[in-house]
Amino acid sequence: LVAFVMFLFFLVLPLGQAVHAYTQLQTGLGALQRIEEILDVPVEGAADRIPPGPAARTRPDPPMIEFDRVGFGYPDGPPVLHEVSFAVPAGTRTALVGPSGAGKSTLLALVERFYEVTAGALRVDGVDVRDVPRDVLRARLGYVEQEAPVLAGTLRGNLLIGAPTATDAQLRAVLDEVNLGHLAERTADGLDVQVGEGGVLLSGGERQRLAIARALLAGPPVLLLDEPTSNLDARNEAALRRAIDAVAVRRTLLIVAHRLSTVVDADQIVVLDGGRVVATGTHDQLTTTSPLYRELATHQLLVT
Ligand code: ATP
Repeated sequence: LVAFVMFLFFLVLPLGQAVHAYTQLQTGLGALQRIEEILDVPVEGAADRIPPGPAARTRPDPPMIEFDRVGFGYPDGPPVLHEVSFAVPAGTRTALVGPSGAGKSTLLALVERFYEVTAGALRVDGVDVRDVPRDVLRARLGYVEQEAPVLAGTLRGNLLIGAPTATDAQLRAVLDEVNLGHLAERTADGLDVQVGEGGVLLSGGERQRLAIARALLAGPPVLLLDEPTSNLDARNEAALRRAIDAVAVRRTLLIVAHRLSTVVDADQIVVLDGGRVVATGTHDQLTTTSPLYRELATHQLLVT
């Protein structure tokens, strides 16, 4: 009998331990899942977070910029945006196209928080922009408007607006990035070369690239770019395109596009009409799915 009881004891004990261990394992797995969920929730101050490199990513980042049924009207004006929804994932390039007055530039102004959305939500890195102080938000965003101002004075003076403490080496590196290295080589003045009143000594394409260089010096992970509508000659067109390509590396781009070369290279194109998103897709997709896009691509986007 004793032998039988001992046998049962040794049989049951490991079973009991196994059940206990199994229960503990379940509890542990539940906790692990909760920790994962907590880590996945955007935390306060997430707008300051630099996105991890691709190798560090174990799951997709939240979209870097997300319009969620955004509505907007300028003060005392009619609504100009209606239920605009699309996301710009981190590290990708999105082009906005549409007829004049469709609301493209307004979308950039909302990301910069020049105005507040009047319906829906606009999030950067998963955080509603209304919850992020403007200076913190703008430190993450480089914004280049269509006719970006160039100040009378030197090349150096114009660049240092973006980063007052930048070294000459940094200034030259960013000039190379936007294909403007030649400006600092043009005369013996180097970086102190004069650009003229309003940048008149520069071409239109050079002025836009100087504005991009200025925005880049602040090192923003996101660039909002309102492409110039002005006709550029083939050389300036190619230089702008190369500058945008260089800028796109490791950055998120939202571009109001007026050039076919810009949309062809975009990961995503958002077609706006009358303040509404009427189609999204790549150039190849939209060419077959969106009559408006086809029309814009053939008639309105500047083809070189
Ligand atoms: P474009 O290609 O001509 O630059 P867009 O698609 O960028 O056009 P927006 O400039 O965003 O269009 O303009 C959208 C609408 O908002 C238009 O009806 C425009 O008249 C209006 N609008 C733009 N800026 C303002 C402003 N500061 N105050 C009032 N209304 C504005």
